[in-house]
Amino acid sequence: MISIPANSDFSIHNLPFGIFSTRGTQPRVGVALGDHILDLKALSQYHDFDFDRSVLSQEFLNDFIALGKEKTSQLRRDIQQWIATEDPILFEKDALFVPQSDATLHLPIRVGDYTDFYSSIEHATNVGKMFRDPDNALLPNWKHIPVGYHGRASSIIPSGQPIVRPKGQILPKDQTLPVFKATERLDFELEMAFVVGKENSLGQEISVEKAEDYIFGMVVFNDWSARDIQKWEYVPLGPFLGKNFASSISPWVIPLEALEPFRVSGPKQDPEVLPYLQYKGMKNYDLNLEVGIRPENGKETLVSKSNFKYMYWNMAQQLSHHTVNGCNVRVGDLMASGTISGPEKSSYGSMLELSWAGTKPITLEDGSTRKFILDGDTVTMRAYGEKGTIRVGFGEVSTKILPSQ
Ligand code: MN
Repeated sequence: MISIPANSDFSIHNLPFGIFSTRGTQPRVGVALGDHILDLKALSQYHDFDFDRSVLSQEFLNDFIALGKEKTSQLRRDIQQWIATEDPILFEKDALFVPQSDATLHLPIRVGDYTDFYSSIEHATNVGKMFRDPDNALLPNWKHIPVGYHGRASSIIPSGQPIVRPKGQILPKDQTLPVFKATERLDFELEMAFVVGKENSLGQEISVEKAEDYIFGMVVFNDWSARDIQKWEYVPLGPFLGKNFASSISPWVIPLEALEPFRVSGPKQDPEVLPYLQYKGMKNYDLNLEVGIRPENGKETLVSKSNFKYMYWNMAQQLSHHTVNGCNVRVGDLMASGTISGPEKSSYGSMLELSWAGTKPITLEDGSTRKFILDGDTVTMRAYGEKGTIRVGFGEVSTKILPSQ
């Protein structure tokens, strides 16, 4: 049996699911535990599971998640119990554990549909101040609707996969005609995303009270953006090529139940929202978020520290709103929060805000400055909750930028 380092993201309280492979083996379902991965496919040869164990040999988690929370949560409780009681199989069969350093982590979900919300009031206010009216930054709908748009699932990529600087139409400053060139305003967006774990039928809305039953778990989400392309294209129908070239996700899906210790109350919603969006209880989560930039061959500088608890609209409200018109969601759909900024400048969740649209460059530890992300930079995002002795972390999502070709 492996030991779990005290400060590990992947404590006994976490048990996130992911898809991994080792050299010469097929992708399969695993659980992160300390610096190791518990190979569930291998474990199924020794322990009886009350579900079709073929879901553990799939290259995505979708079929496993579709078993339902009753089964997936029970499996987590079983693993916790086996560890607590020093189950002989887990403790004697070392081959069940693979060092994470020997494994490749794959995209965990076959993402069906991807929706991006815009639910951080600090972010929406900052963007409104920069591009519209500093005194009236929020649009009239913002405090009534969890604003969102339908994104593109095909370009959601796993941590570690580099991206090439995208090209597109850009309107140069003080010009009237666009040019075609590589973006000069490549940006990250610090977001969290939830994975839908249960479908509703077309025409059947999901209530706020029931919404969490439909959420399997969460990942860290870097919603890459090209601000100059976005600025020229977004009127009147919203984000398009400035957003759909890539979004990177962390490899481990943290089940919602592992985040229970970190529940907190959300900000007071004023004015009162419509009845179908009203909720009871604590539906925000106190999860620390951070973003680092590492220049080519350099050291990482932390450029932002934010928190998921700042969200004005919570996930239950987002999912309920998404389906209130009868829109159906499916297992493996991904719903991202929108950029998560906090009240302090050090907690802004994008370069757009950190450099205030490029007017205030930030300085990295090597003395170089950034308005936006440069070629060769690696952007890494991390998330974790800590309460007393309980730590539940997401690991990281890390992406390097390659020069435009
Ligand atoms: Mn976004």
